[in-house]
Amino acid sequence: MVEVLQKGNKILEETAKEISPNEISSPKIKGIISNMKDILKNTDDAIALAGPQIGEPLRIFVVSNRFFEKNKQGDLIFINPKIVKLSKEKQWMEEGCLSVRNVYGEVERSKKALIKAEDEHGKKFTFGSSGLLAQVFQHEIDHLNGILFTSKAKNIREDKIDGRKTI
Ligand SMILES: [Zn+2]
Repeated sequence: MVEVLQKGNKILEETAKEISPNEISSPKIKGIISNMKDILKNTDDAIALAGPQIGEPLRIFVVSNRFFEKNKQGDLIFINPKIVKLSKEKQWMEEGCLSVRNVYGEVERSKKALIKAEDEHGKKFTFGSSGLLAQVFQHEIDHLNGILFTSKAKNIREDKIDGRKTI
């Protein structure tokens, strides 16, 4: 299985590149999506993962079906995601990252986020979110901009994983 890069790796600090329309259905991108799904499936506390975290500085992230109630749908793929709107209302939320293992902190996130993206077939869609999913969207798009949560968190502390979700 592909490894999740850890803080200190330069790829995590890069601005990820857009994926062009004719690249979206290429074997390369299909392989990347497949690797990302594998990691999410095999990492109990993982609910989302961004391309740079597996060493691919491309604008893509995947949200695990584990996130959704009763796993009614498959993993959701977001390619070239852009934030359309963030609520002015924000809240401090506990956050943990697969690339900063066993470290948690609180990050101020908008309560709601509306994003647009393309799916794995290049079809455009918009997706509204609130609460944890809005937090996930903001965290993953930060990854695509080379930002780790530890650069904006307060009360950063080392802690063991105890069933908390990691993104
Ligand atoms: Zn993360």
